[in-house]
Amino acid sequence: MSEVEILKNYINGEWVESTTDRYEDVYNPATNEVIARVPLSTKEEIDHAVEAAAEAFKSWQKVAVPRRARILFNYQQLLTRHKEELAKLITLENGKNLTEALGEVGRGIENVEFAAGAPTLMMGDSLASIATDVEAVNYRYPLGVVGGIAPFNFPMMVPCWMFPMAIALGNTFILKPSERTPLLTRRLAELFEEAGLPKGVFNVVYGAHDVVNGILDHPEVKAVSFVGSKPVGEYVFKRGSQNLKRVQALTGAKNHTIVLNDANLEDTVTNVISAAFGSAGERCMACAVVTVEEGIADEFIALLKEKAQSAKIGNGLDDGVFLGPVIREENKQRTLRYIEKGLEEGAALICDGRDNVPDQGYFVGPTIFENVTTDMTIWKEEIFAPVLSVIRVKNLKEAVEIANRSEFANGACIFTSNASAIRYFRENIDAGMLGVNLGVPAPMAFFPFSGWKSSFFGTLHANGKDSVDFYTHKKVVTARYATPAFE
Ligand code: NAD
Repeated sequence: MSEVEILKNYINGEWVESTTDRYEDVYNPATNEVIARVPLSTKEEIDHAVEAAAEAFKSWQKVAVPRRARILFNYQQLLTRHKEELAKLITLENGKNLTEALGEVGRGIENVEFAAGAPTLMMGDSLASIATDVEAVNYRYPLGVVGGIAPFNFPMMVPCWMFPMAIALGNTFILKPSERTPLLTRRLAELFEEAGLPKGVFNVVYGAHDVVNGILDHPEVKAVSFVGSKPVGEYVFKRGSQNLKRVQALTGAKNHTIVLNDANLEDTVTNVISAAFGSAGERCMACAVVTVEEGIADEFIALLKEKAQSAKIGNGLDDGVFLGPVIREENKQRTLRYIEKGLEEGAALICDGRDNVPDQGYFVGPTIFENVTTDMTIWKEEIFAPVLSVIRVKNLKEAVEIANRSEFANGACIFTSNASAIRYFRENIDAGMLGVNLGVPAPMAFFPFSGWKSSFFGTLHANGKDSVDFYTHKKVVTARYATPAFE
């Protein structure tokens, strides 16, 4: 254990050893190997980081917006140059395959590109004449210190929903990455420094709930962006709001995909396999339930099962691997309990993910349940693993009704070539991100990531113009200028 590297916090531009006596092992989930140790930092350390960020804010807020944007352009270049290295780190600590990891790096870079548009995004509006000789101008200003709390499943993309935009708009930032995937964050900080970011603007404090509480309670932290599970998101939203901060909390999901009789069978199955089992089902936009119309159900289920059974399982760094491990042994055990629960409650297990998985690492194979009903635990709860429920429905109306019974409403998809059905789906489904003939409708950086119901707590979403509103406040100046002298 002594050779395993102990990670340091990044505060005020320095890598500093934590003073805690509590650490957690970081594993490669494909091999069980311990690859680092992460400190569970103390409240004093988060206080120290907030003080540094508050001090840095005094000058960073005054740096001209195009100059801030130029650092983001440099950062974009550096991240692009290090794409492969970053992707390998993601696969190492998270387990998803290298192609998916490269995709994630690409999505993170898109956020940096969007944030580099700060000079345009930060513009306010004005009206030259609101009364005789009176005009009004609306200016945007950064808030101050912003805290970000991230989950394990997208170590690069999710933090990039937060800090590039917050910083481009003039805020300073403290990121608390997941203690289960802390390695990538270090490179994010190092490359940002190399891009020319001044000390104290971006800080990283590793840890778990003590650090989260430290962020939520510190009066100098003006806003908090959270992404993670529903119970923690609800807690973060309530405690942060109680402390009078702006909070956005993007939380869990149980996304439904509707397959109609006229769907293209091959394409639909390919998309559903990728959406349900890609990244080991550990995506908030993963397909968790398919409701399939009776006319196509037999053929669809047979092909789905065939393709699921042929998925290559293994270490995401190996060629051709589709399905990597889930993040930890406890996540694997939790998934196995859900499989048992599904059987106990009467669902039919047609593809058993407990079979034929590597001994080492935390692997669960593609798992498919048929005859699932909405009173079953496997339909109600977010499993966050490669487990898919299939429900046969009479028609689109029934499929939409089933999806809308879920407490979650992150994404939903439809596979059909019928324009009227697509319109009906769009108008009636409860979900913030919809896909038509595609499996993972995660919006690009310039659109909001807009879950509803228990998938989101707050008002302004991550990304898009919402993120500009979330990380700024406004000042409206109403001014009278007498002009008669010039007439
Ligand atoms: P998690 O809720 O366990 O952890 C998220 C963050 O909260 C981590 O940084 C963790 O350290 C911290 N945390 C955990 N328990 C805490 C506690 N008791 N008190 C304070 N802080 C705590 O989530 P996870 O397992 O890392 O990620 C998976 C979850 O994230 C899934 O539910 C998934 O749907 C969700 N997610 C949602 C979105 C979205 O956009 N809606 C995106 C990605 C992931």
